[in-house]
Amino acid sequence: MKIILLGAPGSGKGTLAKKISRDFDIPQISTGDLFRAIVKEDSPLAHKVKYIMSSGGLVPDEMTVELVKDRLSKSDCKKGFILDGFPRTVAQAEALETISKIDTVILVELANEIIIERLSSRRTCPNCSEIYSTEDNPEEVCKKCNTPLIQRDDDKPETIKHRLEVYETNTSPLINFYSDRLFKVSSAGSPDETYRPVKTFLEKLEAKN
Ligand code: ADP
Ligand code: ZN
Repeated sequence: MKIILLGAPGSGKGTLAKKISRDFDIPQISTGDLFRAIVKEDSPLAHKVKYIMSSGGLVPDEMTVELVKDRLSKSDCKKGFILDGFPRTVAQAEALETISKIDTVILVELANEIIIERLSSRRTCPNCSEIYSTEDNPEEVCKKCNTPLIQRDDDKPETIKHRLEVYETNTSPLINFYSDRLFKVSSAGSPDETYRPVKTFLEKLEAKN
Protein backbone atom coordinates (compact mmCIF):
# COMPACT_ATOMS: atom_id res chain seq x y z
CA MET A 1 0.00 0.00 0.00
CA LYS A 2 1.24 3.44 -0.93
CA ILE A 3 0.07 6.01 1.55
CA ILE A 4 0.48 9.76 2.00
CA LEU A 5 -0.06 11.41 5.38
CA LEU A 6 -1.26 14.96 5.01
CA GLY A 7 -1.70 17.43 7.86
CA ALA A 8 -0.26 20.51 9.49
CA PRO A 9 3.06 20.33 11.33
CA GLY A 10 2.32 19.00 14.80
CA SER A 11 -0.93 17.32 13.77
CA GLY A 12 0.54 13.93 14.68
CA LYS A 13 1.55 12.54 11.28
CA GLY A 14 4.82 11.07 12.55
CA THR A 15 3.20 9.25 15.46
CA LEU A 16 0.51 7.82 13.19
CA ALA A 17 3.05 6.85 10.53
CA LYS A 18 5.05 4.79 13.04
CA LYS A 19 1.96 2.76 13.99
CA ILE A 20 1.00 2.12 10.36
CA SER A 21 4.57 1.18 9.52
CA ARG A 22 4.68 -1.36 12.36
CA ASP A 23 1.31 -3.02 11.63
CA PHE A 24 1.40 -3.02 7.84
CA ASP A 25 5.14 -3.63 7.56
CA ILE A 26 5.92 -0.78 5.18
CA PRO A 27 8.62 1.89 5.68
CA GLN A 28 7.85 5.36 7.00
CA ILE A 29 9.51 7.93 4.79
CA SER A 30 9.74 11.25 6.59
CA THR A 31 11.31 13.98 4.47
CA GLY A 32 11.85 15.95 7.69
CA ASP A 33 13.95 13.05 9.08
CA LEU A 34 15.83 12.70 5.77
CA PHE A 35 16.63 16.42 5.82
CA ARG A 36 17.65 16.31 9.49
CA ALA A 37 20.14 13.57 8.57
CA ILE A 38 21.56 15.70 5.75
CA VAL A 39 21.93 18.65 8.09
CA LYS A 40 24.27 16.63 10.34
CA GLU A 41 26.85 16.55 7.55
CA ASP A 42 29.28 19.40 7.08
CA SER A 43 28.65 20.40 3.47
CA PRO A 44 27.44 23.61 1.76
CA LEU A 45 24.17 21.80 1.06
CA ALA A 46 23.80 20.87 4.73
CA HIS A 47 24.25 24.50 5.78
CA LYS A 48 21.67 25.69 3.28
CA VAL A 49 19.09 23.11 4.38
CA LYS A 50 19.79 23.82 8.04
CA TYR A 51 19.10 27.51 7.52
CA ILE A 52 15.83 26.85 5.67
CA MET A 53 14.60 24.34 8.27
CA SER A 54 15.38 26.42 11.31
CA SER A 55 13.46 29.34 9.80
CA GLY A 56 10.43 27.08 9.19
CA GLY A 57 10.47 27.51 5.40
CA LEU A 58 10.39 24.81 2.73
CA VAL A 59 13.38 23.19 1.06
CA PRO A 60 13.20 23.81 -2.75
CA ASP A 61 10.88 21.41 -4.60
CA GLU A 62 13.50 20.13 -7.03
CA MET A 63 15.84 19.00 -4.27
CA THR A 64 13.02 17.49 -2.21
CA VAL A 65 11.64 15.53 -5.16
CA GLU A 66 15.11 14.16 -6.01
CA LEU A 67 15.55 13.00 -2.42
CA VAL A 68 12.18 11.21 -2.35
CA LYS A 69 12.64 9.69 -5.80
CA ASP A 70 15.93 8.21 -4.70
CA ARG A 71 14.44 6.86 -1.46
CA LEU A 72 11.41 5.31 -3.21
CA SER A 73 13.68 3.43 -5.61
CA LYS A 74 15.10 1.36 -2.72
CA SER A 75 13.97 -2.26 -2.49
CA ASP A 76 12.15 -1.87 0.85
CA CYS A 77 9.60 0.39 -0.89
CA LYS A 78 8.46 -2.26 -3.37
CA LYS A 79 5.57 -3.44 -1.16
CA GLY A 80 4.52 0.09 -0.35
CA PHE A 81 5.42 3.02 1.89
CA ILE A 82 4.06 5.84 4.01
CA LEU A 83 5.08 9.33 3.01
CA ASP A 84 5.18 11.59 6.08
CA GLY A 85 5.78 15.24 5.25
CA PHE A 86 5.81 14.82 1.47
CA PRO A 87 4.36 16.18 -0.77
CA ARG A 88 4.10 19.64 0.77
CA THR A 89 3.41 21.65 -2.40
CA VAL A 90 1.29 21.09 -5.51
CA ALA A 91 4.49 20.95 -7.58
CA GLN A 92 5.78 18.11 -5.39
CA ALA A 93 2.45 16.26 -5.72
CA GLU A 94 2.55 16.62 -9.50
CA ALA A 95 6.11 15.28 -9.59
CA LEU A 96 5.12 12.35 -7.36
CA GLU A 97 2.36 11.35 -9.82
CA THR A 98 5.08 10.60 -12.38
CA ILE A 99 7.08 8.51 -9.86
CA SER A 100 4.46 6.35 -8.15
CA LYS A 101 0.74 5.63 -7.91
CA ILE A 102 -0.60 6.56 -4.47
CA ASP A 103 -3.48 4.44 -3.10
CA THR A 104 -4.73 6.70 -0.36
CA VAL A 105 -4.15 10.03 1.36
CA ILE A 106 -4.86 10.30 5.08
CA LEU A 107 -5.63 13.83 6.25
CA VAL A 108 -4.84 14.34 9.95
CA GLU A 109 -6.95 17.20 11.29
CA LEU A 110 -6.28 19.22 14.44
CA ALA A 111 -7.13 22.79 15.54
CA ASN A 112 -4.24 25.27 15.43
CA GLU A 113 -4.49 26.09 19.15
CA ILE A 114 -3.88 22.43 20.07
CA ILE A 115 -1.06 22.17 17.51
CA ILE A 116 0.74 25.11 19.10
CA GLU A 117 0.39 23.56 22.58
CA ARG A 118 1.62 20.16 21.43
CA LEU A 119 4.57 21.42 19.40
CA SER A 120 5.78 23.63 22.25
CA SER A 121 5.95 20.60 24.54
CA ARG A 122 7.32 18.23 21.88
CA ARG A 123 10.78 16.74 22.44
CA THR A 124 12.65 14.57 19.94
CA CYS A 125 15.35 11.94 20.32
CA PRO A 126 18.31 13.16 18.22
CA ASN A 127 19.47 9.54 17.88
CA CYS A 128 16.38 7.50 16.89
CA SER A 129 13.89 10.35 16.16
CA GLU A 130 11.29 9.00 18.62
CA ILE A 131 8.83 11.73 19.67
CA TYR A 132 7.78 12.57 23.25
CA SER A 133 5.86 15.23 25.13
CA THR A 134 7.34 16.92 28.20
CA GLU A 135 4.15 15.90 30.04
CA ASP A 136 4.56 12.17 29.36
CA ASN A 137 8.34 12.17 29.68
CA PRO A 138 9.44 14.82 32.18
CA GLU A 139 12.92 13.21 32.54
CA GLU A 140 13.53 14.11 28.87
CA VAL A 141 15.58 10.99 28.12
CA CYS A 142 14.69 8.62 25.24
CA LYS A 143 12.96 5.49 26.57
CA LYS A 144 14.25 3.46 23.60
CA CYS A 145 17.91 4.42 23.43
CA ASN A 146 18.59 6.51 26.56
CA THR A 147 19.71 9.60 24.63
CA PRO A 148 18.87 13.00 26.19
CA LEU A 149 15.97 14.55 24.26
CA ILE A 150 16.16 17.86 22.46
CA GLN A 151 13.69 20.52 21.39
CA ARG A 152 13.96 20.98 17.65
CA ASP A 153 14.88 24.55 16.63
CA ASP A 154 11.74 24.70 14.54
CA ASP A 155 9.55 23.71 17.53
CA LYS A 156 10.33 27.03 19.21
CA PRO A 157 7.25 29.28 19.48
CA GLU A 158 8.38 31.97 17.03
CA THR A 159 8.91 29.38 14.27
CA ILE A 160 5.73 27.37 14.87
CA LYS A 161 3.47 30.20 13.73
CA HIS A 162 5.43 30.57 10.52
CA ARG A 163 5.30 26.83 9.81
CA LEU A 164 1.52 26.88 10.21
CA GLU A 165 1.28 29.75 7.70
CA VAL A 166 3.52 27.88 5.27
CA TYR A 167 1.22 24.86 5.63
CA GLU A 168 -1.90 26.94 5.01
CA THR A 169 -0.45 28.58 1.90
CA ASN A 170 1.58 25.80 0.27
CA THR A 171 0.31 22.46 1.55
CA SER A 172 -3.43 22.81 2.26
CA PRO A 173 -4.21 23.08 -1.51
CA LEU A 174 -3.25 19.39 -1.64
CA ILE A 175 -6.52 18.55 0.14
CA ASN A 176 -8.26 19.43 -3.12
CA PHE A 177 -5.58 17.83 -5.26
CA TYR A 178 -6.23 14.46 -3.56
CA SER A 179 -10.00 14.83 -3.04
CA ASP A 180 -10.61 11.54 -4.88
CA ARG A 181 -8.48 9.50 -2.40
CA LEU A 182 -8.88 11.33 0.89
CA PHE A 183 -9.54 9.71 4.30
CA LYS A 184 -9.99 12.22 7.14
CA VAL A 185 -9.19 11.57 10.79
CA SER A 186 -9.11 13.85 13.83
CA SER A 187 -6.05 13.63 16.08
CA ALA A 188 -7.65 15.48 19.00
CA GLY A 189 -7.70 12.25 21.05
CA SER A 190 -4.87 9.98 22.11
CA PRO A 191 -2.48 8.41 19.56
CA ASP A 192 -4.35 5.09 19.83
CA GLU A 193 -7.74 6.75 19.39
CA THR A 194 -6.43 8.49 16.28
CA TYR A 195 -5.00 5.29 14.87
CA ARG A 196 -8.08 3.06 15.40
CA PRO A 197 -10.27 4.30 12.47
CA VAL A 198 -7.19 4.55 10.25
CA LYS A 199 -6.28 0.93 10.91
CA THR A 200 -9.81 -0.26 10.12
CA PHE A 201 -9.83 1.77 6.92
CA LEU A 202 -6.43 0.49 5.77
CA GLU A 203 -7.32 -3.14 6.53
CA LYS A 204 -10.38 -2.84 4.29
CA LEU A 205 -8.36 -1.15 1.57
CA GLU A 206 -5.71 -3.87 1.76
CA ALA A 207 -8.35 -6.59 1.47
CA LYS A 208 -9.75 -4.96 -1.67
CA ASN A 209 -6.40 -4.81 -3.45
P1 ADP B 1 6.79 18.94 10.76
O1 ADP B 1 5.88 18.06 9.96
O2 ADP B 1 6.74 18.70 12.20
O3 ADP B 1 6.72 20.38 10.36
P2 ADP B 1 9.04 17.79 9.39
O4 ADP B 1 9.96 17.00 10.23
O5 ADP B 1 8.11 17.09 8.47
O6 ADP B 1 8.27 18.69 10.41
O7 ADP B 1 9.86 18.86 8.51
C1 ADP B 1 10.78 19.75 9.09
C2 ADP B 1 11.27 20.72 8.03
O8 ADP B 1 11.91 20.02 6.96
C3 ADP B 1 10.19 21.55 7.34
O9 ADP B 1 9.78 22.66 8.10
C4 ADP B 1 10.90 21.92 6.04
O10 ADP B 1 11.84 22.96 6.23
C5 ADP B 1 11.66 20.66 5.71
N1 ADP B 1 10.85 19.76 4.87
C6 ADP B 1 10.37 18.54 5.23
N2 ADP B 1 9.63 17.98 4.23
C7 ADP B 1 9.67 18.87 3.21
C8 ADP B 1 9.08 18.90 1.91
N3 ADP B 1 8.32 17.87 1.45
N4 ADP B 1 9.32 19.98 1.13
C9 ADP B 1 10.07 21.00 1.57
N5 ADP B 1 10.63 21.06 2.78
C10 ADP B 1 10.44 20.01 3.60
ZN1 ZN C 1 16.08 7.38 21.00
